[in-house]
Amino acid sequence: MTNKMMRVIYPFTAIVGQQRMRRALILSAIDTRIGGVLIRGERGTAKSTAARALAALLPPVQVVKDCRFGCDPNSPITWCTECRERFDHGEAVPVETLRTPFVNLPVSATEDRVVGTLDIEKAIQKGERSFEPGVLASANRGLLYIDEVNLLDDHVVDVLLDSAAMGMNIVEREGISFAHPARFILVGTMNPEEGDLRPQLLDRFALSVDILGILDPRQRVQIMERNIAFESDPEAFREEFLPKEQELSAQIAQARKLVDKVSYTPRDLLMITNLTARMQVDGHRADLVILKAARAHAAFEGREAITPRDIALAAELALPHRVNAGPFRHSEMGLTQLEEQIEQLKGAASEGGAAEDESQQEQSDSKTGQKKSPSPPESNLAPNPLDPSP
Ligand SMILES: [Zn+2]
Repeated sequence: MTNKMMRVIYPFTAIVGQQRMRRALILSAIDTRIGGVLIRGERGTAKSTAARALAALLPPVQVVKDCRFGCDPNSPITWCTECRERFDHGEAVPVETLRTPFVNLPVSATEDRVVGTLDIEKAIQKGERSFEPGVLASANRGLLYIDEVNLLDDHVVDVLLDSAAMGMNIVEREGISFAHPARFILVGTMNPEEGDLRPQLLDRFALSVDILGILDPRQRVQIMERNIAFESDPEAFREEFLPKEQELSAQIAQARKLVDKVSYTPRDLLMITNLTARMQVDGHRADLVILKAARAHAAFEGREAITPRDIALAAELALPHRVNAGPFRHSEMGLTQLEEQIEQLKGAASEGGAAEDESQQEQSDSKTGQKKSPSPPESNLAPNPLDPSP
């Protein structure tokens, strides 16, 4: 397919506002091991635009050529059964470069369609292992998008979240097994007016964001202007944002290399568990998610150690859906308290110590999470590389 024939995708960096959503998507693109992102919002809030736009922006991936699962040539321990066998037989493992895949999962998808199927008869009769890849195979190294995830079969959601967490899809039937890597960015969206997810499933999404309508008149003008410009000449509009797209793409690529080197102290861990314990969040998933997301955020800003501000920005994405499912359920109190705790953490970041280098960023970013910010949020974001305004 040539470029001209492809539908032009709205640039990620042209999205106005919605900092939390952009942050959640970027962090999960830096480290897919954080887990899935749930975006809740009404219709027409650009949820699918954002997911598509992110996939279009991500750096190309190197894959083993001819592998049906897009194995990573640089990570043999994650290889599929077929690549392993090729390698064991002394075959060369050729490499090619592909765009980041974007896979849209239909709401009617069955478990077989998602995980793939092993042909047992063929195995028994001919002694050949025959595996028909499913959605998880096409999503490997890419972004798996599920619109209206609340309407999907619970069991299928379960399987998807399992694979996303493990980074692997293992299919076993009657003593025969097949494994392939399934590392992908999982983005589910839902309209809360059309029913909720069960609390157990909710907790398995690592990060969640509630999309709120934008009330700032200037931002609304910007949204209108950009929509009109995109509609009238999508290619020219994309061209205009190309430098920003490339810059963000390169920043994500750098962060992916850095994220495993980002360090943290026992004090950082205690800060995380203090926060989750105070908010009465059950289980330990939230603690791990906050740590991973904080490391990804530090890597995104090119740092090799996490700060209280990284923890606060990660908690803002990891906790709201968990606080709502806990003892604070059905009360506004929980979320208000959470906001207060997080603001305190952000404040701690500017009190000298390890956070000296943060002060400038802090000023620019400290209001992004506040709902009741007196000034327009976008105006506080000038030095932020995500900020699309000129
Ligand atoms: Zn492979």
